[in-house]
Amino acid sequence: MIKTHGFAVQSATSVPAPFDYEQREPGPKDVQISIDFCGVCHSDIHQAHNDWGNGNYPMVPGHEIIGTVKRVGAEVTKFKVGDLAGVGCMVDSCRVCASCKEGEEQYCDKGETVMTYNAKGKDGKYTFGGYGENIVVDEAFVLTVPRNLNPAAVAPLLCAGITTYSPLKHWKAGPGKMIGVIGLGGLGHMALKFSHAFGAKTVQFTRSSAKIADAKRLGADEVILTKEPNWHTSHAGTFDFILDCVSAAHDITPYLALLKRGGTLCTVGLPATPLAISAFSVVQGRKSFAGSNIGGIKETQEMLDFCSEHNIVSDIEMTSFGKIEEAWERVIKGDVKYRFVLDLKTLKS
Ligand code: NAP
Ligand code: ZN
Ligand code: ZN
Repeated sequence: MIKTHGFAVQSATSVPAPFDYEQREPGPKDVQISIDFCGVCHSDIHQAHNDWGNGNYPMVPGHEIIGTVKRVGAEVTKFKVGDLAGVGCMVDSCRVCASCKEGEEQYCDKGETVMTYNAKGKDGKYTFGGYGENIVVDEAFVLTVPRNLNPAAVAPLLCAGITTYSPLKHWKAGPGKMIGVIGLGGLGHMALKFSHAFGAKTVQFTRSSAKIADAKRLGADEVILTKEPNWHTSHAGTFDFILDCVSAAHDITPYLALLKRGGTLCTVGLPATPLAISAFSVVQGRKSFAGSNIGGIKETQEMLDFCSEHNIVSDIEMTSFGKIEEAWERVIKGDVKYRFVLDLKTLKS
């Protein structure tokens, strides 16, 4: 077993603290990665706080992982020692069902997707994520990381990147389309970058006037401040697609009214409490309310290659394990520009 030092939460009310644990010895198809950087996703906080009711403790969060390959199993073909590698939100699935075969392992028909942390692996043991020194993952779930981008700023692409890229592709964001993004945080700022890069007219919705200039720099053609009175009246019936990236309960009715006939409001945000929909707001105009969960491994690699070609990375604030509590508090307040990234060198701090 590989002795690993990291940070874990021990209960829904405790803060991340030093924790020693073990990762499995690499099997024939496994890659052992020495973690260099890990992004801080709002899902880390939701799960640590048991917002979704699925918390298992001790929990080592982190699913935006970039690291250096330390060892490879005898049958590994994609990686060699010294390569830069990435791991996102999942580390395994059934691999034989229709969804897995189509590269949509996150929607495994057998429900056997194994998440990177806070999940039971096929060996029956709980998985531990990126807030630690090492991770061992089957190469089928390890991404090749482009060398031309800042690796710390690539880390958030493994969750925030693919989670926004995938629905924007699925609903065909591109020239001639009017796309909205709700919430300017980790996911929201990546959605802006991708929608803009795909050539769509892109509008950011935010509660914060302090984020207007950034939203424009990140790719918004227009920014709508949702704390202004009547903010939703001027664009009624004009959007093809709106991506909801909000982490907390909020009223989606005004956004449904902004959609064109046949338009879609898709949530990637996962608030702890249900979102309410009036039937009238979707019946009128034959509108859809949808959801999307991360993206498959094939599409994640496609997204990384797209980012390499278009020079897209996350806007990051580096942080350390000594400041993780403060970082989490700032994420909850919506006060991060626009993703915290942990430098694993600060693990001993
Ligand atoms: P984040 O960085 O905290 O961003 C969330 C943004 O939502 C904030 O910046 C804020 O934007 C807005 N917001 C927060 N509280 C709000 C409230 N009470 N009312 C209205 N707006 C509010 O979080 P994130 O890491 O991007 O994650 C966003 C959500 O997506 C989380 O729920 C997370 O768990 C989920 N997620 C889902 C997937 C998936 O596969 N579906 C993957 C990753 C994350 P403004 O300040 O601009 O208003
Ligand atoms: Zn995430
Ligand atoms: Zn499957």
